[in-house]
Amino acid sequence: MRVAKISGPINFTGARTQYNIDSHVHSGKWGPENARYTIKDILEISGKPLELNIGGEKQTNIIKYNFVTNLEALNLENGKPIKDEITGNLDLLKEAAGKSNIKVLAVCQPGYGSAQNIEKLLSENPGQFIGLKFHPESLPIPANDPKLEPYLEIARKYNLPCLFHSGLTGSNSCPRKIYEIARKFPDVPVILAHLGAGTDHKDAINVMIESINKNDALLYCDTSWVDHKNSDGPVLKELIERLSNTIQGDKTDRILFGTDMPLGEFGAPGHKIENFYSINMENVKNALKKNFGENADALIEKIFYKNAEYLYNLSNDAAEAKHNFFQILKKNKVIVGICLFFAGAGGFVYAKNKPDSDKKPAITPKIA
Ligand SMILES: [Zn+2]
Repeated sequence: MRVAKISGPINFTGARTQYNIDSHVHSGKWGPENARYTIKDILEISGKPLELNIGGEKQTNIIKYNFVTNLEALNLENGKPIKDEITGNLDLLKEAAGKSNIKVLAVCQPGYGSAQNIEKLLSENPGQFIGLKFHPESLPIPANDPKLEPYLEIARKYNLPCLFHSGLTGSNSCPRKIYEIARKFPDVPVILAHLGAGTDHKDAINVMIESINKNDALLYCDTSWVDHKNSDGPVLKELIERLSNTIQGDKTDRILFGTDMPLGEFGAPGHKIENFYSINMENVKNALKKNFGENADALIEKIFYKNAEYLYNLSNDAAEAKHNFFQILKKNKVIVGICLFFAGAGGFVYAKNKPDSDKKPAITPKIA
């Protein structure tokens, strides 16, 4: 696998540029908060460079990708989803068209829709949906119900990770119930979103470790609502310590940064806290800095970017962008030649008159 370089150079303000992937984001109408979110709302929060203080160092953070699902397909009204699997997922795909920092996961509705709907979406929109999403609480169904199995078959066929809302022990979204279905599809990556929301996260961590020790499922987790207000990061500390030392070795590749933005304090009317997205990122990154010393930066790179890039197979995007750039260069040889001539001439004039003190490094961030 080609590994992306995600730490950019120090820019002219003295801040380091860092790339991130938020693997858990939503748009659409969410009944519990009586709110409707759009891609525009998401990008207002994460679409601009975020200036953070990480371990006492200024850092510019860019969210390169937001992985988004449509809440309208996850949300029941009068006993049925507001939008069905076809409409809800296609509506979000349309809204996301042309936005390179938005990637879409298809919402699945076991018990309400059918896996054939999802297969139709995937075959008619190749490469457009990067994963599947399940919410066994919002669309109530126990995560281990056989009705989910045809969907997992589709995930296996199309090589897609499955993001599951995970919650209270014993509930529909109990981590152990999710583990049960994941065990039936041991080559399909299954992500425990929130690492057991509303719990102390111990059950979800135990389930992950058990699956790794038994080597019978491919369980991941995301960090949404985990230590999001606690920069000491006690849960993340335990999670990382235990995943670092499994009988299969270091499995910290199983952790993905995610937020659940723009829900709750990120953007919900009456709950929103200004800059909460930056506060959350600072807390999680600083928790890793505090607890993992010289290993912290490598862990941050994995959890905030590389793990998701690898799991969701996004490394080709960078190669594709480079390819497109060179295609444009080829097609526009004459124009580019003229531009380069004037740029060169301008540079020569500038260099001749440049003050000696002006020795700033290049500001263009690199991503390979
Ligand atoms: Zn969510």
